[in-house]
Amino acid sequence: MSSPVGFAERYAGSLMNTFGPPKLELVRGEGARVWDADGNEYVDYLAGIAVNALGHAHPALVEAVTAQLQTLGHVSNFFTTGPQLELAEALVEIAGGGARVFFTNSGTEANEAAFKLSRRTGRTHVVATEGGFHGRTMGALALTSKEAYRTPFEPLPGEVTFVPYGDADALAAAVTDRTAAVVLEPIQGEAGVVVPPAGYLAAARRTADETGALLWFDEVQTGMGRTGRWLASEGVRPDVLTLAKGLAGGFPIGACLAFGAAADLLQPGNHGTTFGGNPVACAAGLAVIRTIEQEGLLDRATVLGRRLRDGLGADDRVTEVRGEGLLIGLDLSSEVSAEVVAAALRRGFILNNPTPRRIRLVPPLVLADADVDALLAAWPGILDDAMEGAA
Ligand SMILES: *Cc1c(COP(=O)(O)O)cnc(C)c1O
Repeated sequence: MSSPVGFAERYAGSLMNTFGPPKLELVRGEGARVWDADGNEYVDYLAGIAVNALGHAHPALVEAVTAQLQTLGHVSNFFTTGPQLELAEALVEIAGGGARVFFTNSGTEANEAAFKLSRRTGRTHVVATEGGFHGRTMGALALTSKEAYRTPFEPLPGEVTFVPYGDADALAAAVTDRTAAVVLEPIQGEAGVVVPPAGYLAAARRTADETGALLWFDEVQTGMGRTGRWLASEGVRPDVLTLAKGLAGGFPIGACLAFGAAADLLQPGNHGTTFGGNPVACAAGLAVIRTIEQEGLLDRATVLGRRLRDGLGADDRVTEVRGEGLLIGLDLSSEVSAEVVAAALRRGFILNNPTPRRIRLVPPLVLADADVDALLAAWPGILDDAMEGAA
């Protein structure tokens, strides 16, 4: 132990109890593995919640951040820098061109920027989806459907209508010529990896076109290679696109992209940020993009994701397998997801349970074949432990 007083006690004494007690004190990571303060090793299938795309301590990320910090660390948005310009250009290219970027420090801030941008249409109504998650600040929370997150903080801004996710007709019925924006995730992450029917995003595009509403895809979780493609919405062009989690591989960053005329909605004085777009975060983002390209990680995500879904789904205590690439959701035959996560941790695997019945896997894109083999080998035993423990 690093201190005679345990981490749980120190945490309780010095940090607000917003997340519940921490499960471990982690001290080190390499690739898809992390180590706790007692020297125990874990395969990290959570990756900081779909963030550590390059895993832990990737040399390309360490080098990029170190070199940039040694050169120019922060300058304010009265100035621009090479890394900021380069990352904006790279994101515009990934998004298919014709867009411009506003950088932030997190996913919720990227969504705040998009929400404010939508108000500049002169309209205020927003249509969002049941089960959708867009962040915890007041604006993003207003678009998030979960009652437990919202209710203690009402009144929240905006006139927001929630429609069932994946139902194109319900969406079309809710959107009118008073609607500023339609916001949805191409795959719902926090809901437990919920994939909409084929054609849903294209139908949303048509609805937005018919009413003049902005189509806003929140790809904070699905974007930047997570699904085996740069963007999960590839093929359907939104008016607004938000990114964050995996974008700089663990360095805090977010981005709000707007396409075509929507890119002119925010004008000088309308919005701002002190840290957003700082050169260190942008250098980290560039290192992530280059490494994904150099190491062929989009294809790796596709291949490894298929192996994991097939292997883990083969156990009949898994009733449904969803997702794309390395964004994977598993439904269990009973409400034992907390027991599964605990049993996995005892066996050296960090998993996540977004709902009582659902397990989510969002490992680093640099996950090794051996990391997949290890989980597939341990999986039946993890389920045995969990179901016994729960019985
Ligand atoms: C995590 C997440 C957010 C919020 O991002 P933060 O960086 O935690 O503010 C927003 N939208 C989606 C889809 C997310 O998964």
